[in-house]
Amino acid sequence: MTEALVRPAGDAPQWDMEVDVLVIGAGACGMAAAIAAHDAGAQVAIVEKRERPGGNSSLSTGSVPGAGSRFQREAGIVDSADVMIADLQRIAGESDLPALTQRMARISAELCEWLVDSVGARMALITDYCHVGHTIPRLHAPVSRRGQDLVDDLVAAVERREIPLAVNNPVQTLYLDAKGAVVGAGIGGPGVEPSRIGARNVILASNGFAANRALVAEYCGEIAGAEYFGALGSEGEAVLWARQLGARLANMQAYQGYAAVAYPHGSLLSWTTIEKGGVLVNARGERFGNEDIGYSAYARHVLAQDTNVYAIFDERIMQLASKEDEFRELVEYGGLKKATSVAELAAFFKLPADTLGATLEAFNAAAGGQAADAFGRARFGMAPLTGQLWICRVTPGLFHTQGGLAVDDNARVLRDDGTAIPGLFAGGGAAAGISGRAGAGGYASGNGLLTAIALGYLAGRTAAADTHAATAA
Ligand SMILES: Cc1cc2nc3c(=O)[nH]c(=O)nc-3n(C[C@H](O)[C@H](O)[C@H](O)COP(=O)(O)OP(=O)(O)OC[C@H]3O[C@@H](n4cnc5c(N)ncnc54)[C@H](O)[C@@H]3O)c2cc1C
Repeated sequence: MTEALVRPAGDAPQWDMEVDVLVIGAGACGMAAAIAAHDAGAQVAIVEKRERPGGNSSLSTGSVPGAGSRFQREAGIVDSADVMIADLQRIAGESDLPALTQRMARISAELCEWLVDSVGARMALITDYCHVGHTIPRLHAPVSRRGQDLVDDLVAAVERREIPLAVNNPVQTLYLDAKGAVVGAGIGGPGVEPSRIGARNVILASNGFAANRALVAEYCGEIAGAEYFGALGSEGEAVLWARQLGARLANMQAYQGYAAVAYPHGSLLSWTTIEKGGVLVNARGERFGNEDIGYSAYARHVLAQDTNVYAIFDERIMQLASKEDEFRELVEYGGLKKATSVAELAAFFKLPADTLGATLEAFNAAAGGQAADAFGRARFGMAPLTGQLWICRVTPGLFHTQGGLAVDDNARVLRDDGTAIPGLFAGGGAAAGISGRAGAGGYASGNGLLTAIALGYLAGRTAAADTHAATAA
């Protein structure tokens, strides 16, 4: 792990290189920030700790919500930022930074259009489903549902602009001037004399702390026992810098979980399979909750089971989910098993056929409106389940943390007293999220990439404007 230090720059700092805007981290946040800053006239550089850009953004499904986008209008979908704010607040509940949710929703349509028009991202509106937390189809995503495609498009946009992007360059030190403004960063591993880059503005785009087990145990203890399924770079340097800087940390106990990582393949079992009518059962063949609370919130319930857990759905749902590349690959790799009867389905994993049969019968009765669901599920998608059935063993995962540095409307990092730290911005997983104060239940689909790309976009534009203002003064 990179050491996280904050040091005085000294009276006459010697920089190895100087830029207007230095971006730390080359995920969706960092590349969006760099593109926005460059397009607003700033001289920008990106430094990335790992051997390639992408971070968690590469592993995501690339879904970004946009309320009131022109793509929605073209599809005849009526939506607005106000409806999105209501949706996000409903699912997130209390937040340390309520204004951030409003800012993100109000800029979300512009953001999706900017991604397509200025960045050249190959994204389209998803009209098949709303996904967790949204009442209107507003997620825009690569057709493949692969975040890697979005990352590839961001990298191509960075390259077209000839923005330097240096991989294998971990930032360990932030430098401050005598007034407490951030004026540069030092690159290098522990024990190595850092190379020093001077910058009028520094943007923290280094994601959260999900790969740092000690920080996860400290802030998100309820999911500390789950495996982390994200990129290795998310080691929480931004939190460690924030503590030394006196920056305010917010929503620190919030995180995104995932209830159904296919085991042992390690790829996502698309939540479409559950949302559209599938169920999760334990090794006793019993359901154990209302799956409809969403893939993030339900992760804790899967983790609480003392047995293996399995997802079950039918052929029609399987065909629908097969529109997604990752799901199709999982099927091709043999990650799912197909059966023509409940007894055959149960036999794959030695589940008790009688109990499983009774579980599915009760679920189908609830889905068909003949009985109330034992766990209060109200939305059943295409269920009752019928015909050939599919089964997949799943495990719960931690995907990313949602707590981080408190920021203002333009992604400036705030101190505990509410003033901004001059020269410092944060976005994406490095900044506080919009998924509520604690737990995984507040996560709506797209919250991760929305705060990554929107705060990056705002940070980049504002940092460029600050640079112009300082130069003109
Ligand atoms: C499997 C999975 C699926 C997901 N699906 C979705 C989805 O569909 N929609 C959604 O909104 N969110 C999703 N998320 C969450 C989403 O991926 C993240 O919230 C988002 O990608 C964060 O973007 P970022 O730019 O802040 O971080 P990242 O993309 O992780 O980029 C941060 C970069 O900073 C680098 N870095 C870290 N420390 C340093 C340092 N000291 N010096 C230099 N570089 C550093 C890292 O190596 C990394 O490359 C998913 C997450 C996972 C794991």
